[in-house]
Amino acid sequence: MKIIMLGAPGAGKGTQAKQIAGKYNIPHISTGDIFRANIKEGTELGKKAKEYMDQGLLVPDELTCDLVVDRIQQDDCKGGFVLDGFPRTIPQAEALDAALTKLGQKMDYAIDVDVPDENIVNRMGGRRACINCGATYHIVSIPPKKEGVCDTCGNELVLRDDDKPETVQKRLNVYHEQTQPLIDYYTKQGILKSVDGTQPMEDVFASIVKILGA
Ligand code: ADP
Ligand code: ADP
Ligand code: ZN
Repeated sequence: MKIIMLGAPGAGKGTQAKQIAGKYNIPHISTGDIFRANIKEGTELGKKAKEYMDQGLLVPDELTCDLVVDRIQQDDCKGGFVLDGFPRTIPQAEALDAALTKLGQKMDYAIDVDVPDENIVNRMGGRRACINCGATYHIVSIPPKKEGVCDTCGNELVLRDDDKPETVQKRLNVYHEQTQPLIDYYTKQGILKSVDGTQPMEDVFASIVKILGA
């Protein structure tokens, strides 16, 4: 099963993608996680990506598309994969389609996790991320067992630099301008499914499982 997660920053794509990956036993591919890992390791890609991420802007397609196209051809993707945070622009979607066509494959579902802007600001302000393992929490709706500490690995939890209020509004604007057109793009392909992302995490997941089949 090949799945794309769509939705505004902070809509809950990552939270759902991790659960999908677990249930259907397919890799979770998050371009945001890949960029953050590169930043942590100090690679050339990380240095370049950071300049854009810190400003709430998208990393250029030239730095993003090949990365994903290579990743989905690795062995663990043979049974499918869930893309989280990619594609984010029409040219990225076209690059993905072109690569899949060459491989004789196609995406099965694009799942839009729908959350209005009013809720997003709260979601991102309360998001806490583990800098070690990438787990994500929310100080109110999905708190860790012990404040400021990752349940999974015991590392400290931080507010991402780009989750600060100044950057959040910018990212929302970028989403509406550059990413939202993908909803139309995948509607035309007949693979768009929408779920109400304002529900509790478990209910959002149940709606997704209904779409994908158990
Ligand atoms: P969120 O989950 O809050 O939407 P991500 O972790 O997906 O955030 O992405 C963080 C940042 O990484 C984005 O704001 C953007 O700068 C960059 N990024 C991630 N994926 C892409 C992509 N497909 N194209 C361009 N930039 C990306
Ligand atoms: P995205 O990957 O779309 O940027 P995340 O999965 O990181 O979004 O979720 C953003 C924030 O909202 C996190 O703090 C997460 O714990 C929280 N969150 C995710 N899903 C829900 C939900 N259904 N209800 C309330 N909070 C949620
Ligand atoms: Zn952790």
